[in-house]
Amino acid sequence: MTHPLEIFLFCPKCGAKNFKINDNYSKKCDSCGFVYYKNPVIGVGVAIFNESGQILCLQREKDPGKGLLALPGGFVDIGESIEEAAIREVMEETGVEITDLKLVDNIPNSYIYSGMDQHPLDFYFTAKIKESQHFKEQKGETSHIRFVSPQQINTDSFAMQSTRIFLKKFLSNAY
Ligand SMILES: [Zn+2]
Repeated sequence: MTHPLEIFLFCPKCGAKNFKINDNYSKKCDSCGFVYYKNPVIGVGVAIFNESGQILCLQREKDPGKGLLALPGGFVDIGESIEEAAIREVMEETGVEITDLKLVDNIPNSYIYSGMDQHPLDFYFTAKIKESQHFKEQKGETSHIRFVSPQQINTDSFAMQSTRIFLKKFLSNAY
């Protein structure tokens, strides 16, 4: 495995070129002493069910995984809990309010973004949708929001490795 900060050639604080590998997850600047760690960011994803037991799916409109399917979700902002992030991301991506949010699993993810290996830790929830709400797609981010029956879900058509693992376990009643 290459070092997670390999593509960072210069110190982000002072700009010196003496930005050297410190340990497996960090680099240190020999000029100013600045140490930078590459930690996993926290992601959230939500399987939202309607009254018929169908799951809300959407299509990703940007990379990674442009054109592939996803559950609503995203990254936790600074100062947010994972539950707050889940509710906010669902609203941003689909325009709907959810209830009965329950944490089900957390799964390390892995993909390439901006030419760099990314390793978020993704927390997966289930939730219910409040009835008679209209979907509102997030321009440039999501499209084709719709409910899909569990029997019709092909986990291979989902962009994220962690979502494929979560849905496979969920659909085989592993939780
Ligand atoms: Zn420096």
